Parts: sequence; structure tokens; C-alpha cells
Amino acid sequence: MTQTVLAIDDSPEIHQLLRVRLKNLDVELSHAHCGFDGFDQALTGNPDLILLDVMMPDASGFDICRKLKATAETRNIPVIFLTGASDVDQKVLGFDVGAVDYIQKPFDSAELNARVRAALRTKRFQDMLAQRAMIDGLTGLWNRAHFDQRMHEEVAAAARYDRPMSLIMMDVDKFKNLNDSHGHPFGDEVLQAIGDILQGSARTSDWPCRYGGEEFSFILRETDLEGAVVMAERVREQIESLQLRNKSQLVPVTASFGVAASTMCMNPRDLSPKWVIEAADRALYAAKENGRNRVCTADRP
Ligand code: GH3
Ligand code: MG
Ligand code: MG
Repeated sequence: MTQTVLAIDDSPEIHQLLRVRLKNLDVELSHAHCGFDGFDQALTGNPDLILLDVMMPDASGFDICRKLKATAETRNIPVIFLTGASDVDQKVLGFDVGAVDYIQKPFDSAELNARVRAALRTKRFQDMLAQRAMIDGLTGLWNRAHFDQRMHEEVAAAARYDRPMSLIMMDVDKFKNLNDSHGHPFGDEVLQAIGDILQGSARTSDWPCRYGGEEFSFILRETDLEGAVVMAERVREQIESLQLRNKSQLVPVTASFGVAASTMCMNPRDLSPKWVIEAADRALYAAKENGRNRVCTADRP
């Protein structure tokens, strides 16, 4: 995927120069002409690299860099200072406020290219590691750490923009028996097959997760209770239809589902990840109590 670079500099000539000098790199370059506009663009655009001027009329580049590093959404974007000053103090200050590198003006074209490429290479590696830390090794689904983070963000967005979000909690039925009868390696294969079903059912705005053990969850953005139930029912049917065999013996697999939606929370001040998870958990418990292999919804508390 093409990486993006945001240049923040008050001088139009510098932007023109960067456009020409970085033309041969496979990057998408965007431009901001003052410090605060640059910060806003970084926040909304989430670039892979920021080239930041030190001296701008509205703000010092050092202050903008501090602000970027103090903001969760922009903290991990590497910053390279474009500096006219050649004294060591300025360069050291740049590193101290969080920059990864500096480029001396006037630019040497080859050096500019090399430093930008090096920073983007590191950023790609950093993104890859960050994503890997969020993925469950057995199923390839999002892991529990990512679930917690997504729930926090999706519930906050649902509350702020008054739009629905739903959560499906799912637990494989009598999985302990399956492990005991067929062994843990076969149990793992079942979990992988279920992971594939969840992955295949997800839209880009959904978050299929392995909550832990044989429990899975689905965070559905902009989806009300009815939509989430349809989705859960579809996944339930697909799991029931799995034709998994252990030594030619067909092994039936089913799962139970609990569904809750943010719209079920009567008092907006009560809406939190904990509220939604507890509601879905109660529904899941009801599904187990009522015979398993079914989808239940949370009653209003
Ligand atoms: P219920 O229908 O009430 O959910 O019954 P259950 O047997 O599924 O419930 P329980 O929570 O008692 O058992 C879950 C089992 O899942 C126990 C544990 O050994 C197994 N398990 C958890 N993680 C893994 C895993 O990664 N691989 C395998 N093979 N088994 C796992
Ligand atoms: Mg369980
Ligand atoms: Mg279970």
C-alpha cells in the first residue's frame, strides 16, 4: 500500500521542492502551510511520516512536535525536522521533543530521499508489529487486547454520534467434551474453522475477535439489534453446517450466541463497554440455559 507523507512548512517553495524531489518515491505527499493546520491534518489524515519545518509564523515546529507526541492518535507518526539551523542545540532539541531525524536545508536531494525512505521503512515495520500484537495466533482474528480497544472506541463513537453499535458474544457448545473425546489438536482445528467463518462473515466495518478460549465476539458498527441478530443467526447456521471429521468420524459443532445493542441502554450516561458486554453476556447465558445452539438477545435491565 502506498505510504503517505505530510509536509508542514510555511514556505510554498519548500513544498514545491519536496514535490519534485520526492517524485520518484512511491509516496502520496500532502501539504500544510502552517503549524496548527498541519497538526489538524495529521490528526485526520494519519500520515506515515511528517516532514516538519522548525520556524513557522503561527507556531514553532518543536511545539507542534510536542503536541503530536502528546496526542494518542498522532503519537506513533514519525517526524523528521526540516531545519535551516545548523547548530547542534537545535538538532538535539528536535530529537528530545520526539523527532526520529532531521534534514538540513537547503536539501541534498539524495540525502532527503534516503532519510525519507529509511523513516518509511521503519514505520512499515512498526505498523506490522503493532498489528501482529493485536492478532490471535490460532485463528487470525483480532485478539482480546484489540477487542478491548475497539469496544472502547466503538461505544464512545456510538454515544457521541448517537448511532447504534452491537455486540455478539459467542461460546462454543460443550467444547470441553469435544476436546476430551477428540483431543486438543482437533479442538484447535475446530476453533480455526470457526475463525474462518467469522472472518468470512465480516464487513470491513466489523471486528471479529477471539475473546478467549472457545469464546468469540463480533463488534458491529452502525448495526442495531435486529441486524446483529440476523448476523448471529447466519453464523450459527454456518457453524452447525460444518462437516468436520476426526478419523472419518463426523463431529457435530454448535455454538450459542448472546446479542446486545447500544440502543438498548435507556440512560445514555450508563452506556459503556462494560454495559454492552454484560448485556451480551446475560443473553449468552440465556442461550445456554435454553438449550444451546441458539441466538438470544439481552433483556433491558
Ligand atoms: P458450554 O456449552 O457450557 O460452553 O460448555 P463448554 O464445555 O464449552 O464450557 P467450558 O467453558 O467448561 O469449556 C471450555 C473448554 O475450552 C475448556 C478448554 O480446555 C477449552 N479450550 C479453551 N481454549 C482452547 C484452545 O485454544 N484450544 C482447545 N483445543 N481448547 C481450548
Ligand atoms: Mg466458555
Ligand atoms: Mg463453551
